[in-house]
Amino acid sequence: MDLIIKNGRVVDPARKIDSVTDVTVRGGKIARVGSANAADLPVFDAAGLTVAPGFFDIHVHLREPGTEEAETIASGGSAAVAGGFTAVAAMPNTKPPNDNPSITQYIISEARRSSPARVFPVGAITKEQKGQTLAEIGEMFEAGIAGISDDGKPVMDAQLFRRALEYAQLFDMPVIQHCEDLHLSKGGVMHEGMYSTRLGLKGIPAAAEETMVSRDLILAQMTRGKYHVAHLSTRRAVEMVREAKARGLNISAEATPHHFTLTDAAVADYDTNAKMNPPLRSADDVAALAEGLRDGTIDAIASDHAPHHINLKMLEFDRAPFGIIGLETAVGLACTKLQLPLARLIEVFSLNPQRIMKVRNWGLFEGSDADLTVLDLNRPWSFDVNQSRSKSRNSPFHGWQLKGKAVATIVGGKLVYEDRR
Ligand SMILES: [Zn+2]
Ligand SMILES: [Zn+2]
Repeated sequence: MDLIIKNGRVVDPARKIDSVTDVTVRGGKIARVGSANAADLPVFDAAGLTVAPGFFDIHVHLREPGTEEAETIASGGSAAVAGGFTAVAAMPNTKPPNDNPSITQYIISEARRSSPARVFPVGAITKEQKGQTLAEIGEMFEAGIAGISDDGKPVMDAQLFRRALEYAQLFDMPVIQHCEDLHLSKGGVMHEGMYSTRLGLKGIPAAAEETMVSRDLILAQMTRGKYHVAHLSTRRAVEMVREAKARGLNISAEATPHHFTLTDAAVADYDTNAKMNPPLRSADDVAALAEGLRDGTIDAIASDHAPHHINLKMLEFDRAPFGIIGLETAVGLACTKLQLPLARLIEVFSLNPQRIMKVRNWGLFEGSDADLTVLDLNRPWSFDVNQSRSKSRNSPFHGWQLKGKAVATIVGGKLVYEDRR
């Protein structure tokens, strides 16, 4: 747990650091940022590389308990560190769902035992994610959840969602909404537009997301709750978040790499790896997400890593489940597709996720946990899904040529992933 990371370009927007220097780690904590010459410590040569505070993917499905053939806490954690993430937030739609403290405790203890990445469980908003009564939120908070969400489903009942926004304030936790009006999206399998018409597939209109974002922003204003929009996918939804932030609401939002990279054209050959929820949208929506990430409207990039067993993704398009794996491609896609300034890239992957989920001891402050992501921004590479550490193979990015990659991941001072030339 002792290490010197030497001669890297150390960038931490929270501490306003951007310089070529060393990071000294002792006992798993950051001991010093600045030139080091402790000859007794092992050295990691980071010359030519960027050293950032640990990346945190706040939207991941680990599938354990219940669907271990698709992913486990161990395999998902391993994929996370291979993607440069030192931490993930695990969504509660497991089987059974994480709606009570015993499941929360199970996830935390299993993660400590088997995952190289830190795992922060997200608790359900409602019991069994059925949208009828609030889950055991206070008890789950005591057990260690970092936020609440019914992700996979929205909370359709506005009164219940209002209560959740009020109650979560007692714990200063975000309420994370999967924005989808289930009446508008019913039966839909892809974005409603020219392609859905041409392909003869039932569409999910942009309005399914936008009406829910709109309703929730009104409730967030009314309650002053801490509200977070998961996987934004439409221009109008981005605009509503921008406008609500300008009015000072306590809100945040994330976007996924697939939504800022792909359009509904990817569905054209009925590829089930282009089936996600929310669906891939239009080129104009893709442009709006990139703008939102650039101008600060969208706070974080999150993968919505959603492993599914290959047998399910082999089903015909209408019947296949929604979602793709994304932990190992998120950073490469962001580097390749967005051209964000470096400090902004680190904000959306590290600082802002940590602020949203209120995780302590983050960043390159002395005494903080030594969780670090080391990037090679110039590294060309291609993603081979067959080499993925995930137990699932459902990615539309197999064979993609990318530029920029996490080449080392350090958690608590321990080098848990390395991919050096
Ligand atoms: Zn979702
Ligand atoms: Zn999700």
